[in-house]
Parts: sequence; C-alpha cells; structure tokens
Amino acid sequence: MGLHYVQGQALFTHTHPIPRQYPYLTENLETDIIIIGGGVTGSILGYYFSKANIPAILIEKHRIGHGSTSITTSLLQYELDSNARELEKYMPLEKTLHAYHLGLKALSEIDAFIKEKGNTCHFEWKDTLLYTAKQTEVCEMEEEYTIRKKGGLEVDFLTTTNNPFSFDLKGGVYAHKGGAQLDPFLYTHHLLKVSCEQGLKVYENTQVRELHYLPDGVEVITSYGYTLKGKKVILATGYDTDSFTTRNLGVKTVTYNIATQPVSSFEGWHNKVLIRDNNDPYHYFRTTSDHRLLAGGEDIPFHTGIFDEKTAHEKYTILLAQLKTMFPHIPHIELDYAYCGAFASTPDNLGFIGEDPKHKSLWYCLGYGANGILFAILGGMMLSKLYQGEVSKDLELFKVNRFDG
Ligand SMILES: Cc1cc2nc3c(=O)[nH]c(=O)nc-3n(C[C@H](O)[C@H](O)[C@H](O)COP(=O)(O)OP(=O)(O)OC[C@H]3O[C@@H](n4cnc5c(N)ncnc54)[C@H](O)[C@@H]3O)c2cc1C
Repeated sequence: MGLHYVQGQALFTHTHPIPRQYPYLTENLETDIIIIGGGVTGSILGYYFSKANIPAILIEKHRIGHGSTSITTSLLQYELDSNARELEKYMPLEKTLHAYHLGLKALSEIDAFIKEKGNTCHFEWKDTLLYTAKQTEVCEMEEEYTIRKKGGLEVDFLTTTNNPFSFDLKGGVYAHKGGAQLDPFLYTHHLLKVSCEQGLKVYENTQVRELHYLPDGVEVITSYGYTLKGKKVILATGYDTDSFTTRNLGVKTVTYNIATQPVSSFEGWHNKVLIRDNNDPYHYFRTTSDHRLLAGGEDIPFHTGIFDEKTAHEKYTILLAQLKTMFPHIPHIELDYAYCGAFASTPDNLGFIGEDPKHKSLWYCLGYGANGILFAILGGMMLSKLYQGEVSKDLELFKVNRFDG
C-alpha cells in the first residue's frame, strides 16, 4: 500500500518486533488460489483456504500487515456503521438484523481460532456502546435498541438515569458481548503462521503488476517478472484495489486515530467497552491490553496522494481533547501515537465478497465499512466453501454488482 493510504507512526506495528519475514517470489508457480494482499483480509483468506486443504499462494507487495491493517482500530462489532432504520433505504430490517447475527458468527469464529491456537493477539470479548449526547436523538437510539432486542440480541437501553459512564450520554444501546478487540498486526501474523503450517505459501515484497484472464483460470505477473498461474485470484487489496478493477467500490475518506500513553486507571470507562457515538462522521474509542486509550474519527474526504499534515495535526488535537472531556477522572491522558489512513464505506455498510460478474476467475474479499475484519472472516468462510461448490445464500448480501444500475 502506498504511503498515501497510511500516514504516521502506527501503534500496532511499532510496539512489536516483526514476528516473521517471508521471502519474495523468485520462481514461476502454479496453484489453485492466488490471494493478492497480505493484510488481515488476505491472511484470513489464507487461513480458511489452507484449512480446507486448497492450494493457495498469498502475495504482498510491501510488508505483511503494514497497510490499513497496521492502523485499524480493530473494534470488532456486529453492528454496522448506520442504524438499522437508516439502512432501510438499502435493505429491510430483517436483512440488517441478519447482518448483525453474521457479525456475531464471525466473532465466534475468531474466538474459536484463539481457543484452538492460543491468544497471541490480545483478543478480548467486549460489550459495546452506541450512544448520543443529543436529547433530540434519544428516540432514534431507543428505536435501534428495540429493533435489536426484538431481533434476539442482548441489549440494554441507557439514559441519563442509568448512565455508568463519566461522559454526557442522553441515550445509548449497550450490547452485551456485542464485540471484541485485538491487535491486528499480531493476529495477521498468527493467522499466517498457522496457515503456512497448513500449506499456504506466502511471499512479501512481491508486487502483482499484471493480471491476465485465461480460458481456464488466471495468470499474474509480478514486478520481477515471475508468473503465477491459478484457477482463481482473490483481491484482498483493501482500499488499494483500483489497479485491478474499474469498479467504483465505495466512497473513500481519511480517518484519524490517536493512541495515548498507558494510563493508570480507566475511571469512568465502564467495563472498558467499545464505544461509538452517532455523530456524522462518528467517533470510536477502545482501550488496549497495555492500558492505552485509542480514539478515532474526524473523517474528511480522501484525495489520492494528498496528505495534509496541518489538518492531521488539528484532527489529532481534537481527538485528544475529546478523550480528556469524556474521561475527566482518568489522570494524565497524553498523546503517544497519531496516524491516519484511507477508509472506504458503501451505502449499505457491507463489504464486497464474491465473484466478478464478468471475469469468473476474479473474486473479491474487500471489507469496506467499519466491520472490515468481521466481513473478511465471513469472506474466508464463504469463499473457501464456494471454491468447493457450496454456495452460501449470504453471498447475496455482499454481491459485487449489487449497486449496478
Ligand atoms: C484508521 C482506521 C481505522 C479502522 N478501524 C476499523 C475497525 O475498528 N474495525 C474494522 O473491522 N475495520 C476497521 N478499519 C478498516 C480496516 O482497515 C480493515 O478492516 C482492515 O484493516 C483491512 O485489511 P485489508 O487486509 O483488507 O487491507 P490492507 O491491510 O490494506 O491490506 C491490503 C494489502 O494489499 C496489498 N496490495 C495492494 N496491491 C497489491 C499488489 N498489486 N500486489 C501485491 N499486494 C498488493 C497492500 O500492500 C496491502 O498490504 C479501519 C481502517 C482505518 C484506516
């Protein structure tokens, strides 16, 4: 991923040594599945394909986990970016509720991986809070609560009278075990370690320069001129997908994140839940296992190649001030890391998973929207089954051409 997609000193890649380096490709190879992109999405795909004993090769043009994966806040929540009622323009409430339940299913999958392979990435289940500080939006919030409750989700409604947080909250949906958090860099490396043991081949510092469609599959050419042949190629290239397709995939913004120095208490941050407000654009907050506070948001439109340091500085200052206002009882909230990057969202808040309508050997797994990592899990599960002939009906939700006129 070019520097114009990620800027600043990312917390997750900076606080750990690189667990493993992978070679670059120096030969021509053949396989069944070529995965382009060595972020968390590509690694999830690698895991599911290798688990199913399907030969696969993953190619990353830079270093593993140094794209968007290095800066994702990694709030893993079943809820989508917008409320269920707002999404009714694009899908009925039942579909949104189904998407929420798919999010829970993806969370359980990560949990199962951690239980089986060990918790090397600080995975933790979390309650989540979606809230408003505006009295005029309490009804909206209550409606979201009611929809989720009726849909079988374990939620409470918070108001000024039962607000356990130190910040101003007029209405909020509190979801029990509605999410989780992890370290995305360590998770990505753990997935690849396990996947390589299962037979996945991984090459980093190897850019895919050309993609050719063949009668029986696909061929990619790397920057050093080597050829990989496969039956399918899957784009796990995140927001850096324009060189492979002319499709208009989502609206890009720049989103800003800060991480504080470790704090000595979390007073006022009830249960260290994952928090999101309903501003437009919204803010999001989490804690880390080494006692930091993370804050994100303040999104602005994205322009390729333009990084405005002055604007970034202003955004980081706003995020830090917001943390201090929300948590006045937490002593010494000091900035430690500040970074930002491209983010893409879709009208219905769902990513793209499935085959290209024109080129059947081109598949997508793009976790656009705030639930990118959970969508990638669903993509890994569904695409590995699809390759074996099992078509999940949930692929309909993520169809690449669902917005075509
Ligand atoms: C600040 C921020 C906060 C976010 N917060 C959340 C969150 O809380 N929860 C969540 O689920 N999501 C969040 N997201 C979205 C999140 O980034 C994604 O869900 C996830 O990290 C995307 O991973 P990825 O593997 O798809 O993309 P990337 O990590 O960007 O990986 C794509 C890879 O493809 C490689 N690539 C591209 N072109 C080529 C090529 N030609 N050849 C070889 N390799 C290539 C790139 O180098 C890159 O490493 C956030 C995003 C940002 C920017």
